[in-house]
Amino acid sequence: MNKEELTPMRHSLAHIMATAVTKLWPEAKLGVGPVVENGFYYDIDIPGVAISEDDFKKIEKEMQAVINQNQPFEQSTKSIDDAIAWAKESEQPYKEELLNDLKRAGTTVAKDLSPEEMGTLAEGESQLDSVGFYTNRDFTDLCRGPHVEHTGQVGAFKLMRVAGAYWRGDEKNPQMQRLYGVAFKTKQELHDYLQMLEEAKKRDHRKLGKELDLFVFSDLVGSGLPLFTEKGTILREEIGKFTQELRERTGFTRVWTPVIAKTDLYKASGHWDKFGDELFLVKSQETSDEFVLRPMNCPHHVQIYTSKPRSYRDLPLKFMENAGDYRDEKTGELHGLSRVRSFTQDDSHAFVAQDQIKQVASDLVEAAHEMYSVFDMELKFRLSFRDDGEGYLGEQALWDKAQAQIEELAKENELDYYVEEGEAAFYGPKIDFMATDAIGRQWQVATVQLDFVQPERFGLEFINESGEAEQPVMIHCALLGSIERFLSVYIEHTAGKFPIWLAPEQIRIISVNQEAETLQMVDRIEALARNKGLRVYADNDNESVGKKIRNAEVAKVPYTIVVGEKEVANGIVTPRVRRDISVIDAHPELHYEQFVQTVANESISRIIKSSL
Ligand code: ZN
Repeated sequence: MNKEELTPMRHSLAHIMATAVTKLWPEAKLGVGPVVENGFYYDIDIPGVAISEDDFKKIEKEMQAVINQNQPFEQSTKSIDDAIAWAKESEQPYKEELLNDLKRAGTTVAKDLSPEEMGTLAEGESQLDSVGFYTNRDFTDLCRGPHVEHTGQVGAFKLMRVAGAYWRGDEKNPQMQRLYGVAFKTKQELHDYLQMLEEAKKRDHRKLGKELDLFVFSDLVGSGLPLFTEKGTILREEIGKFTQELRERTGFTRVWTPVIAKTDLYKASGHWDKFGDELFLVKSQETSDEFVLRPMNCPHHVQIYTSKPRSYRDLPLKFMENAGDYRDEKTGELHGLSRVRSFTQDDSHAFVAQDQIKQVASDLVEAAHEMYSVFDMELKFRLSFRDDGEGYLGEQALWDKAQAQIEELAKENELDYYVEEGEAAFYGPKIDFMATDAIGRQWQVATVQLDFVQPERFGLEFINESGEAEQPVMIHCALLGSIERFLSVYIEHTAGKFPIWLAPEQIRIISVNQEAETLQMVDRIEALARNKGLRVYADNDNESVGKKIRNAEVAKVPYTIVVGEKEVANGIVTPRVRRDISVIDAHPELHYEQFVQTVANESISRIIKSSL
């Protein structure tokens, strides 16, 4: 079942919820009630009443009564003036405001408009003669539909939460209450979804980040500015190295650029307008120069390209950098590591001739495949192409040529892909990489984005084989996106059980007693592991072995070995392998040197499962 089929059902539930709420609180004023991912909401304002989760049972019961009555949804229309009169009479000031705006804008768009949609209504878009309504028994709402035939056809639902929401998203407007519900075709689907949410809660990266001591925030540093601890830094750096290695293999070379640049650079690139108040401004106290903290590194790399004349022999020219970027996100939208104000992007840039697009993009797709197989995530590819609409920059012929090459490479590489027209950026088509995590959620993780506009804006050129100046195409590619956001996905995907190569602590050595020979043996193994580049921790605390093993389990360490009399006598250890990476039940016995060497090999080769 796809989303479109669920829309009428979910939207009908928004009406049913409004029916129930207005029955329970007849003085309730209604805002808008659109469909959202997995469900629906309605913005409601009840003078003097704050709905809480304690009210959900009561509302759900009332909704169920409406559903059981199979009330038909009947469509009707009114002239705009009659509609305004209706809103007045029913004492629905928010609806009245919407209708007055519709009248002013002169459009026939009369569904449950979201605040964003209202904002996009153009003056005099079309002639307005009537607006649509839907009625189920005693409840009538301004609405364009679509709806199911009657209230009995809405599947399974559950109210989830209530949150404050400003009318039309503007903090100058009154605050309403946004009541959210989820809905699915069957009880089973709803059950599965709720269970997935339970699981997601357990895996919440903010919670695991604390439990596993990976990152912290500080009021003095500022919100949305994560500080990575010793352990979290290992994750960042190992992942950063991985994406560098993969790109280096396809011919990218490292560059380094500063995190600030003059505003002029971003005015020239067009980002000054695009990012607007998301830019952090930096003022020089020495000169009159004004700077921004860079929101992305592309224009910086362009400056390296233009630093000298380029010929076709230099192309494709590929620069990469794991670059710190800064965007002043709204405080209310900050969320753990997934929405931050400082982040590190592995955005890299290839400058290519038109007929090199396919090869370069193909190499990057291959790199992404390798990366996500190591992360144990399935990849799907969305080819985001242009549609017939206006507003795309660059010549049509170039678009056609580029899109043809992208689709060819998708076929040749046998990608699991789909084409989505109208999803391209205005400056070029792209390939979006969607990864599925362990609990079935899909995340957009990486992109290969063609750019016909930056080369134009900065006047990039190279001398082609016929000795003429030609404009290169720029390809932006991020395998991870931002390291922070990727970590938020990946911590939840693994539930904090990191594979051997990434685990902040790879081996824990537990001493059985405090005797000199035991501690010497522990030291010997620890030193050897460190020499092999492994991250190892010796637990010589005066605690019971059982307690120490449990501590290692809580810390989700891949390998634990216990050193006692027997191990001291012959150097043979019996590693305990963390369950999720273990492929056999029995713990093998082997000499500690062999054990350390095996773990070192596994770490270097980034394997997912243990061979022990
Ligand atoms: Zn870029």
